[in-house]
Amino acid sequence: KKSREAEDSQKDAETLDGFCPDVMANISKPEEVISLQKVGARGVGLLRTEFLFLDQQNLPGEKEQCQIYCDIASKLGSDPLIIRTLDIGGDKPMHSVRTESEANPFLGCRGIRLSLRYPELFKSQLKAIIRAADLHSNIQIMFPMVATVDELHKAKELLNECRRELHIPVPELKIGIMIEVPAAVFNAEQLAKESDFFSLGTNDLAQYVMAADRGNASVSGLAHYQQSAILKAIAKTCNAAGTAGIPVGICGEMAGDPEFTSLLLGMGVTKFSASPTAIPALKASIRNVDMAQAKQEALACF
Ligand code: PEP
Ligand code: MG
Repeated sequence: KKSREAEDSQKDAETLDGFCPDVMANISKPEEVISLQKVGARGVGLLRTEFLFLDQQNLPGEKEQCQIYCDIASKLGSDPLIIRTLDIGGDKPMHSVRTESEANPFLGCRGIRLSLRYPELFKSQLKAIIRAADLHSNIQIMFPMVATVDELHKAKELLNECRRELHIPVPELKIGIMIEVPAAVFNAEQLAKESDFFSLGTNDLAQYVMAADRGNASVSGLAHYQQSAILKAIAKTCNAAGTAGIPVGICGEMAGDPEFTSLLLGMGVTKFSASPTAIPALKASIRNVDMAQAKQEALACF
């Protein structure tokens, strides 16, 4: 029975009517690649790169970063590795870059805002990603906390600058953004025209849409993806992506909640990235979905 289970865990999950969404894993450390292979995830939908920068006295060099990205990418074979650029700031201060103290750090200089404020730091990461992507075509890049089209333009301009400086064009490198700030949902039509994919960061999206701290237990019911406002935000994001013809994934914790698999599929989410421990239940839940029914169920959110 054990070996049968192990065999099943490697199989991709299809809905009852044969739709096969991508099931990928979120990882925060290179070692975790092993755990995603055990559950048969098809790649990394979110590599949180903060481990490279937090609690470090010195910033990691371009070479060191590139080596780490290459190691992970090669372990995944042809499955994707989506590298999210630095998402520090907020509650995660970084000692190796002196940042000002902020009264409201979650509303301050975090994610892409911090990267754009410290372009040399950002460029070292972008160059490491470009070098790695030149060797491993399964690498994709994703920017966190994007709120405006202007931020996306600036980030892409820096990426192009790095390509030119390195003389490595990597034309096929896919560039996606997290949708985790309410402004990005309102700007989704414009952002979709300039992104290769969206990935819903429902942890932050819930916190910011509901104005409720994601780490504060007394408002945890509000800061939750089951809120109708969050479901509507997801539906709007899927609509915008559908119009532009780009895929929508989800990498917030909601992705691993089997209660919402059908609804997300019905709204148009085609890529799920969850913590490796949540993946067996996620796959089981996908196998019970009827897409026609899921789409019907999702209509209520549009
Ligand atoms: C999210 O906000 O949903 C997300 C996946 O990013 P993080 O939890 O790293 O902020
Ligand atoms: Mg987030």
